[in-house]
Order: sequence, then C-alpha cells, then structure tokens
Amino acid sequence: EAKSAGRDTARFFSPETDQRVLARQTMEGQLRQALANDEFSLHFQPRLNARTRRVQGAEALLRWNNPMLGQVAPGHFIHLAEETGLIKPIGLWVLREACAQWMALEAQGVCKGLELSVNLSVAQLSDPELVGQLESVLRASGIPPHQLELELTESQLMDNPGAAQAQVSALKALGVQIAIDDFGTGYSSLAYLKRFEIDKLKVDQSFVQSMLDDSADAAIVHAVIALGHTLGLKVVAEGVENLPTAQTLTALGCDELQGYCFSRPQPIEEFVAWLQGQDDPPNRRRGR
Ligand code: C2E
Ligand code: MG
Ligand code: MG
Ligand code: MG
Repeated sequence: EAKSAGRDTARFFSPETDQRVLARQTMEGQLRQALANDEFSLHFQPRLNARTRRVQGAEALLRWNNPMLGQVAPGHFIHLAEETGLIKPIGLWVLREACAQWMALEAQGVCKGLELSVNLSVAQLSDPELVGQLESVLRASGIPPHQLELELTESQLMDNPGAAQAQVSALKALGVQIAIDDFGTGYSSLAYLKRFEIDKLKVDQSFVQSMLDDSADAAIVHAVIALGHTLGLKVVAEGVENLPTAQTLTALGCDELQGYCFSRPQPIEEFVAWLQGQDDPPNRRRGR
C-alpha cells in the first residue's frame, strides 16, 4: 500500500505532469494573442432539407491556426477560452465575422436567403452585453435576423434555466432563431423545454452515428424527433456520415441533415464551390 501511495506521489510530480502544465500555459499564452495575430478563421458546413436535399443553411465552425501549435481543434481550446474568459472577445469575433462573410456571399448572389448558424458559449449567454452586441452585429452586417440561428447546448440552458430563459427571450425578440445543440446529452427538464422560446433541436451526433447499429440509439433519435415535433420544433440530425443513415432519418421525419455524408466543414472558398456544384442538377441527383 505504501508502495502504491509512493508511486502515486511520484506520478504527481512526474515530468509528464510538468509537461501538461507547461502545454496548457503555452496554449493559454498563445490563445491570448490569437485574435490580435489574426489566427482564427471560420469553416462552413451545410445542412440540408431532409426531403428535398436542398441546402437550407450552414454552420460556422471556428478554426485556430497557430504558428507554434499548428491547427488546434475547437474541442481543445474552446473550454480553455471559457475558463479564461477569452471566449467573450473570441465569440464576438465569430459572430461578427460569420455574419459579415455570409452577407458578402449574399451580395455576390451565392447564398440567396440561406440560413447561418453560429455557436454561442455559456459565458456569452450569461453576458448582459450579449443582446446589445448581437443588435450591433445585425445592424452592421445587414443580415436579416430570421436568417441567423444561434446554437446553444442543452447543458448551457439547463445550467441556470431561469436566467437562460430570459436571455433566450431577449435574443428571440431581435428576430433570430434559436437551436438547442447536442440534444440528448444533457439533462433537459421537459417543463423548461416547453417554456424556452426555441425553434429547433439538433440531435447529438453520438446517437446519429450509431443509430443503424444500435437499436437504443435509434429509439432515442426517433423519440427526439417525435418530442420536437410535438413541441412544434424543427429537428436536425448532425453527424450524418452515410446515405443509409440519411434515408432512415428522412423516413423518421427528421427535418434537416448535417454531416460528412454531404460535406465536411470547409473554408469559405471551398464551401462556395460546393454550393455552386449543388445548383448543377446532375450533381444533385447523385446526392453529393
Ligand atoms: P458542434 O457545434 O456540435 O459542431 C459539430 C461538430 O461535429 C463539428 O466539430 C463538426 O466538424 C463535427 N461534424 C460534423 N459532421 C460530422 C460527421 O458527419 N461526423 C463527425 N464525426 N463529426 C462531424 P468541430 O468543428 O471540431 O467543433 C466541435 C465543437 O466545438 C462544436 O460542436 C462546438 O460545440 C464547438 N465550437 C466550434 N466552433 C465554435 C464557436 O465558434 N463558438 C463556440 N462557442 N463553440 C464552437
Ligand atoms: Mg453547433
Ligand atoms: Mg452538436
Ligand atoms: Mg458540441
């Protein structure tokens, strides 16, 4: 026993721990300078109407390219940005930049009336400045509010449901749409779900990816679609990786589909090329 305690102590002070601490400090330091150094960019991933398979909109996803660390995935830095409070300026940058880029495409006639989805973090949702910031982004970009959809995760909303409900109402009053992201992974109270002024549920990709192999996941997807429709909400499936899954979701009445099956998130130039390919009927018939 003494031996194992000794081992644990030794592990606690091991060089690996130092390295992890150092890596975190390095990342934090780099993250603090990332906005000023213009290291962020956005990728866009389309979502399609399940029945017509026409593009309905796209989600903007943040990318960080740092000269020292390389490409850092959002899963590796969003939580750090949240812990350090950096998510507020970064999140505002995402909102501004996504809307500005979207309206530039609109001006070129590329994405006529398509919707734009932007992820918000919990620190943004609880920020009293958010509504004012959104108002100025809407005004500066000229994006029609109903074309902008804000994605909030289920756990963000349920963290402090009362405050979130008020904030969601204030956002809705500006005319934007609200989607609950990663639905099914948190603990939603159905009573709150009914009261939130939301428009859409996004079924979490973990259920979607295994729904053809796992009957419990298939049942969850089915139940979320039924629940969403009962509450008058649209339901989107994310993480749709193949056509059989897309076909099953469509048969279940899912409204929109998003996933690698149609397109990975891409830089704006590639996204535009992909969109233009969709206008070409033979391509659409091939379902690509
Ligand atoms: P999310 O909002 O649920 O976004 C969907 C994630 O699933 C994206 O990962 C996307 O690339 C990935 N994905 C899409 N289709 C498929 C598929 O068919 N198969 C698989 N395996 N994955 C698929 P990404 O871009 O790495 O983003 C991860 C998460 O980071 C996002 O999850 C979101 O929670 C967060 N995030 C990304 N950008 C932002 C942002 O601008 N602000 C905030 N607050 N969070 C962001
Ligand atoms: Mg999302
Ligand atoms: Mg999600
Ligand atoms: Mg997520």
